[in-house]
Amino acid sequence: MSLSGRTALVTGGSRGIGRAVALKLAREGAEVVVTATSLERAQKTADEITALGGKALAVKVDVSNTSDVEALFARITEVFGKLDILVNNAGITRDGLLMRMKEADWDAVLDTNLKGAFVCTREAVKLMGKAKGGSIVNISSVVGEMGNAGQANYCASKAGLIGFTKSVAKEYAKRNITVNAITPGFIETDMTDVLSATVKEDLLRQIPAGRFGKPEDIANAVFFLVSAMGSYITGHVLSVNGGMYM
Ligand code: NAP
Repeated sequence: MSLSGRTALVTGGSRGIGRAVALKLAREGAEVVVTATSLERAQKTADEITALGGKALAVKVDVSNTSDVEALFARITEVFGKLDILVNNAGITRDGLLMRMKEADWDAVLDTNLKGAFVCTREAVKLMGKAKGGSIVNISSVVGEMGNAGQANYCASKAGLIGFTKSVAKEYAKRNITVNAITPGFIETDMTDVLSATVKEDLLRQIPAGRFGKPEDIANAVFFLVSAMGSYITGHVLSVNGGMYM
């Protein structure tokens, strides 16, 4: 298997896209650290990996909390002694029109989606630097590229991730660490399940492929970027959106 012997961390691996990514990387031979804000939910994905014959470690982490992230990396160092792949996937929405957006909703989204990725990446490059290589994938969003009314906080966090990706890619290219972003379109998960039927119909009309994406569509793209096939790709923003935005 192409990821045999590699250790991967997937933040927000309990559900949706993160779960699909964790399972895909495990199927390709990686040992996977799965995190979520609840140990039980992270453990559920870890158990699925174990059932596949893989190796997984579940850890409770709130990525917006720096001490939680530092404790996570201490644990990874203790258990695996290294990290080869980081997927910054944990993310939340707190939607609302700008005039009514509360500062707490702005902060929660930016702290989880953008600061969380920053702190995880800062810790990860320490381990990857020692190992002389690694792959980082940041899960941004199509709305970080095109904007979306009612999601100023979320779009700012996802657009921020793109600038972050390109900057870190430039800083670490010589150290053999690739840093890329994926911008998913509309993917069927708990995050999008809350949207009304009217909003879903309207979104579907904007997708040339004529279907919503599945978490596995994103997992396949992550695998491509972190495998040997993606070794010369860095600072790239890969759209996986069925043609919704190009
Ligand atoms: P989801 O089903 O709501 O899952 C979110 C995941 O993030 C869960 O595992 C959740 O863990 C975790 N999480 C949330 N807050 C966290 C925190 N503070 N610390 C650690 N983990 C946290 O969402 P999804 O649709 O799979 O989205 C995954 C990523 O893709 C997000 O970054 C999202 O913005 C992005 N994305 C999604 C879509 C889409 O259409 N679904 C489109 C573009 C981008 P718990 O189980 O503990 O809550």
